[in-house]
Amino acid sequence: MTAAAFEPVIGLEIHAQLLTDTKIFCGCSTRFGAPPNTNVCPVCLGLPGALPVLNRRAVEFAIRAAHALNCQVNPVSIFARKNYFYPDLPKGYQISQYERPIATSGSVEYDGAGGPRRVGITRAHLEEDAGKSLHEGFADSDTRTYLDFNRSGVPLLEIVSEPDLRSAADAGEFFSRLRAILVAIGVNDGNMEEGSLRCDANVSVRPEGSAAFGTKAEVKNLNSFRHVQRALEYEIERQTQILTSGGRVEQETRLWDATAGRTGSMRSKEEAHDYRYFPEPDLPPLEVSAEWVEEIRRSLPELPDAQRRRFVTQYGLPDYDAGVLTQSAALAAYFEATAAAAGNAKAASNWVMGELTRKMNELGIGVEAVALTPGALAGLIRLVESGTISGPIAKDVFEKMYASGRAADDIVAAEGLGRIDDVATLEAHVVDTIRANEKAVKQYREGKQQTFGFLVGQVIKATGGKANPALVKDLLKKKLDEPD
Ligand SMILES: [Zn+2]
Repeated sequence: MTAAAFEPVIGLEIHAQLLTDTKIFCGCSTRFGAPPNTNVCPVCLGLPGALPVLNRRAVEFAIRAAHALNCQVNPVSIFARKNYFYPDLPKGYQISQYERPIATSGSVEYDGAGGPRRVGITRAHLEEDAGKSLHEGFADSDTRTYLDFNRSGVPLLEIVSEPDLRSAADAGEFFSRLRAILVAIGVNDGNMEEGSLRCDANVSVRPEGSAAFGTKAEVKNLNSFRHVQRALEYEIERQTQILTSGGRVEQETRLWDATAGRTGSMRSKEEAHDYRYFPEPDLPPLEVSAEWVEEIRRSLPELPDAQRRRFVTQYGLPDYDAGVLTQSAALAAYFEATAAAAGNAKAASNWVMGELTRKMNELGIGVEAVALTPGALAGLIRLVESGTISGPIAKDVFEKMYASGRAADDIVAAEGLGRIDDVATLEAHVVDTIRANEKAVKQYREGKQQTFGFLVGQVIKATGGKANPALVKDLLKKKLDEPD
């Protein structure tokens, strides 16, 4: 018996904290990690009579994101009250956008693992974040919950995708592309650990070939790419099993429990009318001029996927290299500067993805904090490309450059690390090596060709890796072939 095949249908709701210095409706700082309840005022504490004033920068960032997501920017959008009570929402409502969001009808297109992908963006809207309930970390946490309102009023852009995603991996890839875009345009720091980028997923399954959607569950609390994938895999399997055994999936909100590796029911899913949305009376309609929207569009940098394609065509890099190098704008810029100075893009790519990345991982730093300039790295690459130093010596020089800040050619000259091309010097090493390896020499002369490579290696080793390998081979061959 073959079970009917089911197809997952997934849409993501992503909350991106906008990188403004101050909150969306007041002048309080958005800085992460401040002592609890120090970045607060009557507005973000929801005290009666306090009035919100919209942060222009938050609107600008929302429009930047809207452009990057190919959305239509609506000239007029409306703030709405989303009414619900929660301890970390002191006003009893959240100011959001509902029927008329700032951006609609967009898409993200990219070359995915399975080929070209296009994922629709339903909408993007501005809203304020709530405070934070602290259920752990205090001596009396078993009986009390503490509240920190520093996050209350931090600007969020909620981005809602179309249900265009068809597997956990597909959703994970889309989320990572979206993150790269938001980081590249400077509106979000992409930091999922600190919660500045959060993801909820709507997921349902349906019999393959069916056009109608199944009943969906909303999975919350997906604060890493791994959690997105694992939670979706779990949820797809759970729903498939229910349907296969003739059951019915409940429409509900489920919470991902990363420790247990499963989702659990949190509450039955609210309908929009449960929130009694109505237009926010304390804020006028948000009007943005066509000129401003256009000005923001012109200021956008190159987006990651376009940059990736350009790296392939302009530098002739493999797609893999292009993908790695365009993961952050800073890394891409570092590579481009290195490639330009070195005059060799593939070598620059190898060094940036290899030794430089290894060093960054070792030190736990991003490329912004790298002490070596692209020009200095290019100097090292030129020494390798010209044959002045060998690959293994270059790695050694790289370490010394990083530690001392000295230029590659200074180190090579001062420490005598340059390649040895001098025939007399090499000949002396060849003679010594032949003398010291009688057995291998005898085997070679008896026809065992493999020992030649061993002997070459011995000569190069004797020169501390500095010998010109081609010259060593020539000289060694000559010596071995002539009678003693
Ligand atoms: Zn405030």
